[in-house]
Amino acid sequence: MTAGCCSHPKRCTGKAAASSPPPRARPEHAPQIRLPPRRRRGDPAKVTGMTALHTTSTLRSRGMTARQIRSAVDIGMLRRLRVGQYASGPHDEPLEAAIAFGATLTCASALQRKGVWVLERTEHLRLDQSGHQSRGALRGARRVHWGQGTSLDGVDDVATALLCAQRCMGREALLCSIDSALHQRRITRSHLGFLSGTSEGRWALRSSDARSESGLETLPRVRLRRLGIRVRPQVPFPGVGRVDLLIGDRLVLELDGDEWHSTPESRESDRRRDAALIAMGCLPLRAGFTRVVHHWPALERQVLEIVRRDEHHWHGRRRREALDVPGFG
Ligand SMILES: [Zn+2]
Repeated sequence: MTAGCCSHPKRCTGKAAASSPPPRARPEHAPQIRLPPRRRRGDPAKVTGMTALHTTSTLRSRGMTARQIRSAVDIGMLRRLRVGQYASGPHDEPLEAAIAFGATLTCASALQRKGVWVLERTEHLRLDQSGHQSRGALRGARRVHWGQGTSLDGVDDVATALLCAQRCMGREALLCSIDSALHQRRITRSHLGFLSGTSEGRWALRSSDARSESGLETLPRVRLRRLGIRVRPQVPFPGVGRVDLLIGDRLVLELDGDEWHSTPESRESDRRRDAALIAMGCLPLRAGFTRVVHHWPALERQVLEIVRRDEHHWHGRRRREALDVPGFG
């Protein structure tokens, strides 16, 4: 395989060029161009998803000449984003557009890319107050933040993204992302002191709970507690495992993310869990993203009807027995 016919630059090792070197008179010939074959630990070239970012200095340090860099751009192996910055691999339009503008993806955009749960998936850019960016960035982005400095890989770290988010997201959306970041250990609580600067941040810090794995668990937890209802996340049940939310003693609210509950195997597993909970006398209730985020009032009414009948509590002998079971009482 020659590099010129390969659609995946990372597979172009240049071995074909070594066995059959092209004439110097054809610098545009692809086998002369070698992209960095792999990323080494501590390498300044950052990989975001499948897109690799390079600077002129990193390309030069790996043996590419200025002429080879230009040729790589000409044949599409490298994409020139702005002066001294290039991308290779699959096209990442939001990231490459941000870098081209001299901006950094931040807030919800950065958190989502770091694997943190976000309620809204709109594009958020941060522009360097002291830098010189194209004003075009302001036209394309949904939300624009201002700050100092840019990130080498075009994406803010979790702390910087949350700092922007506390003045941008609603307080519930902010709490969802904080819970998720804590749960995934993307950040520790001791590094969240900057959130005390706003009322939204202080409320989110007070309300945060690293046991909640996603916003689908965070939103019902804080909304039902606001109504004075006792809700506990990730309560273990014998023979079942942890349930997402336990309301009172026996009403179990399982929150199903689409990505984990859409296969036949996962649905069968859910049915077995529900059957086991019902056999124990619990009331399992399931809800997915649409019901929690878009149809919350209807779901809340269902929960409140059960709570008003006091069916979320054990009574009599069952209450006394339950006190001996871990997770109850
Ligand atoms: Zn924002």
